[in-house]
Amino acid sequence: MMQTYGISVIRTVPELRDQTAAWRDEDERIALVPTMGALHEGHIALVRRALETCDRVIVSLFINPTQFGKNEDLSIYPHDEIGDIEILEELGIHVLYAPTMEEMYPDGFATSVRVSELTEGLCGVFRPVHFAGVATVVTKLLLQSLPDVAVFGEKDYQQLQIIRRLARDLDIPVLIDGVPTVREEDGLALSSRNAYLSPRERVMAPSLFKVLQKVATGLQAGEEVQGLMEAGKRELLKDGFSKVDYFEVCDAETLKPVSRIKAAARVLAAAYLGKTRLIDNHPVVANRGD
Ligand code: AMP
Repeated sequence: MMQTYGISVIRTVPELRDQTAAWRDEDERIALVPTMGALHEGHIALVRRALETCDRVIVSLFINPTQFGKNEDLSIYPHDEIGDIEILEELGIHVLYAPTMEEMYPDGFATSVRVSELTEGLCGVFRPVHFAGVATVVTKLLLQSLPDVAVFGEKDYQQLQIIRRLARDLDIPVLIDGVPTVREEDGLALSSRNAYLSPRERVMAPSLFKVLQKVATGLQAGEEVQGLMEAGKRELLKDGFSKVDYFEVCDAETLKPVSRIKAAARVLAAAYLGKTRLIDNHPVVANRGD
């Protein structure tokens, strides 16, 4: 039988602050794992990492409307708070922080956090309001909980780099910990949005990871960046993706496009299977002999 520990569900900032203050008085290390719920094994990997490195773990659940564009999937985004609580309780999580909309965005809310440059390429081109929404809500979550560590997934690689930068630029005293992407056996990155795929699309979906992996292998073998990017895009379209928003090779830290692999890089793509937009990325290790 799985042991359960009892989880507190907190919905307001003052209650969260009382809880974290009590932990800090005991010199306990606190981790925050921000999520939008509908938890899957990808989220669980972040939670496990948090439990390994800290004494107390807060998982936040907030479907943040400001990071969805007008025509995006906010109204149908999966929602299962009771199921999420069961999962977190079994993992031994101490607090689920699930603030209400009014708690996060009270009347008169007027502030936005904008990270320049890093937000301008890749997904930023196709989702113009997305990263300001993410940066603002993550800044709020960090300041509300003041954790020692906050854990994010490499699945959303551009988001991870943006959050590292905002924490550094705003002197928020937190260590941002990135966890490698958790995948299905066939390579598809776990995502709440995979639930939108039809059975036929689900069969085609792993091609995204396979093509990224193939391109990363080619780059590491010294093949030319531009040619591989174009071939990758063509292959996705051939494998049934209807539209490729981008297929790019970027510096792993600055996310600036690169034309040669001189330092750690990342190959990143976003593409549609029918109406569902999937994103994924793969590391490219720089060849030290170059
Ligand atoms: P979301 O609920 O989609 O906003 O994601 C919450 C956190 O889980 C983010 O830091 C994501 O990068 C991370 N995440 C989502 N899917 C995965 C995955 N397949 N592997 C690792 N982390 C993930």
